[in-house]
Amino acid sequence: MKALQYRTIGAAPEVVEIPRPEPKPGEVLLKVTAAGVCHSDIAVMSWPEQGFPYRLPLTLGHEGAGTVEALGDGVAGLEIGESVAVYGPWGCGLCVKCAAGEENYCQRARELDINPPGLGAPGAIAEYMIVDDARHLVPLRGLDPVQTVPLTDAGLTPYHAIKKSLPKLVPGSTAVVIGTGGLGHVAVQVLRAMTAARVVALDVSEDKLELARKVGAHEAVLSNADATEKVMELTGGIGAQAVFDFVGAAPTVSTAGAVAAVESDVTIVGIGGGTLPVGFGELAFEVSVKAPYWGSRDELVEVFELARSGVVDVHVETFSLDEAPEAYERLHAGTINGRAVILPNG
Ligand code: NAD
Ligand code: ZN
Ligand code: ZN
Repeated sequence: MKALQYRTIGAAPEVVEIPRPEPKPGEVLLKVTAAGVCHSDIAVMSWPEQGFPYRLPLTLGHEGAGTVEALGDGVAGLEIGESVAVYGPWGCGLCVKCAAGEENYCQRARELDINPPGLGAPGAIAEYMIVDDARHLVPLRGLDPVQTVPLTDAGLTPYHAIKKSLPKLVPGSTAVVIGTGGLGHVAVQVLRAMTAARVVALDVSEDKLELARKVGAHEAVLSNADATEKVMELTGGIGAQAVFDFVGAAPTVSTAGAVAAVESDVTIVGIGGGTLPVGFGELAFEVSVKAPYWGSRDELVEVFELARSGVVDVHVETFSLDEAPEAYERLHAGTINGRAVILPNG
């Protein structure tokens, strides 16, 4: 089968021919319908050899959807041909976090060498993929796989972040979304669907700001040296009750901290290497700062229900498997608006 692999540190990913995997006992083989392209892969492919956490070659893709092709021994509860999406942050299934559905925070994943598909385990940008356990699948029940696959990360990650800040996003409040790409343009929609907050979107490109407005941002502001002043002006000098940074670079975390109101939440989702000093006088009083990872299994089901109700519409651009390297190049260059989705069997 064909797969997109990251094979050599520092090189571009390549489309290669590899053997089609067979499901071992307990595993599920999916014929991949759609696989999303996340900016985190670009970060992974920029990491140096020293300390690189995964074995190479690595089949990329941590947003996956497919149809059930074959079941390993002992797997029950799934029909051959059923359309499903993959919950990506795999855990052990047994620790207290996994028991709560929070496999993204599994206490034993590192020790047991359990890795998400595309981030250690073979990923979704391939004609077929192995899912280690049926509990890591969510039936799509009529949802379109191409439109829905980005929700497994670009939807779930912002949803998890936003859900934690809901008590602060009361009528009259402001939510700031920094970086309205794959994750950010879904964040704007989740905020509009779940809160009465005024949504202020920041990005560096006019195309992205245009998309932010289209999907529901009340205000769209260029992310530059004047952005802080602009957001403070828009909030009458008070700042935002929640700031979600989907870039996480030095200038954006600095903006995030500067526009955070008293008792607000700053959530740094982007992995751009920026850090935000916390200490008396650094930020407004009682600001909470956190850097979450992905989301829980029950939250993924909730995100799908949000999509089912029609209030979340991912802006998708599709590519064939042969075109997958180009999708990564375009994401790197900042010219994907919304989410790139690969159709490995399309
Ligand atoms: P993306 O490339 O689709 O979107 C990033 C957006 O940020 C783009 O629209 C870009 O124009 C914009 N941007 C770049 N520099 C900016 C700046 N200085 N100010 C404002 N906007 C700026 O990327 P994505 O796939 O949506 O991922 C977003 C970030 O979230 C990445 O860092 C990714 O690695 C990270 N991520 C984290 C998690 C997690 O669990 N913490 C999960 C998924 C992705
Ligand atoms: Zn991701
Ligand atoms: Zn666990």
